[in-house]
Amino acid sequence: MTPRPSPTPLCFIAAVAAFASVSSFSGAQENSESLHWYRGNTHTHSLWSDGNDFPEMITAWYKDRGYDFMALSDHNTLAEGERWMTLDAIAKRQRAIGRTAMEKYQERWGDDWVETRETNGVTEVRLKTLAEYRGKLEKPGEFLIVQAEEISNSAGGKPIHINAVNLETVIPAIKSDDANDLRKVTGEVVTRVRKAAELSGRPILAHLNHPNFQWAFTPEDLAHVAEVGFFEVYNGHPGIHHLGDESRPGDERIWDIANTIRIAELDREPLLGVATDDSHTYHGGDVSPGRGWVMVHAPALEPNALVEAMQVGDFYASSGVALKSIAWDPKSRTLSLKIDPGEGATYSTAFIGTRSSYDATKPTGENGIGEVFAELTGNEVSFTLPEDALYLRATVTSSEKHDNPSFPEQRKQAWTQPVGWRAE
Ligand SMILES: [Zn+2]
Ligand SMILES: [Zn+2]
Repeated sequence: MTPRPSPTPLCFIAAVAAFASVSSFSGAQENSESLHWYRGNTHTHSLWSDGNDFPEMITAWYKDRGYDFMALSDHNTLAEGERWMTLDAIAKRQRAIGRTAMEKYQERWGDDWVETRETNGVTEVRLKTLAEYRGKLEKPGEFLIVQAEEISNSAGGKPIHINAVNLETVIPAIKSDDANDLRKVTGEVVTRVRKAAELSGRPILAHLNHPNFQWAFTPEDLAHVAEVGFFEVYNGHPGIHHLGDESRPGDERIWDIANTIRIAELDREPLLGVATDDSHTYHGGDVSPGRGWVMVHAPALEPNALVEAMQVGDFYASSGVALKSIAWDPKSRTLSLKIDPGEGATYSTAFIGTRSSYDATKPTGENGIGEVFAELTGNEVSFTLPEDALYLRATVTSSEKHDNPSFPEQRKQAWTQPVGWRAE
């Protein structure tokens, strides 16, 4: 378990400096005093769709482990309305030996809470709605549940999964039979999210999920769908090809290719990266929770404040590395990180970007896309953006193995957002 970083030190300059109108060091210092880091997961599944545990059990799992917020994001549904499930259906979903989901649920929540009925000799249990259970788990300033949906669209069978975080009503999915509609459907769904936000008067975050799941998205797709602002640079589901394969790039490289095209060719803002769990199994299965999350730098543990902070880029993605601060100084164009070290761990930080004279035919290396400008060790590192670079980002890798890896030899990591891509 990674300890929660301490509240923001005074010397903090937010990564958001690249996005917001923070014009000087001192201004950013003043603005950052009242901000805190909040840890949250925005992608989780429950019995409301294809997860195998009750929503209040899953939410309690996150709360018990020190998360500040979490979002259940079931496929094309919210936890609302009347829904009954047979115990048989739940047991089938569980696919694990040992106590059943129902037994664990009854033990933790008690018979007064758990609601069952018999229909023709079949026992069913009612799934509680968010409105019912949130009051049992939320605590102001300490733990927050944010309503979310994984809008699960498709084009020619290719999955286009987009999470909408902090929405009020279900946003319907789009299904097209034509694989050529991939970019069009993606753009339309994000537009639906934007319109839902306008209608409700609250910000809604849309992040595109697991681009390599069923190899649905190429980096060029992500570059060219202008509406998409966020994507999962890490998703804890073991089946989403996080590392790519011999011929196709992994999620981190997709990020660099898409952002290079966006900045160099399309004069467009880069994608920002989130890390999530996408957990489905909670009884020993391999699609389990606790693998990836975001650390959001916000003034309060409130849904709108969290989403607004993410929308201006004031957050980082993590699979286990905690940062005390991310400081981007637009004047000297220097990115500095302070790592909150784990016991006995050492850290290597790769400062990554693409030069304006990049050679698109080069896979990596000098003057390639996503060139590693420098790799520095230590708990406090900084690097000045080369004159000819289009952007700069950092990936911090710990010597520590991940507690619950989604791929072999996985280390704990953190990913900061791209900076320096806009003339200050
Ligand atoms: Zn998905
Ligand atoms: Zn999912």
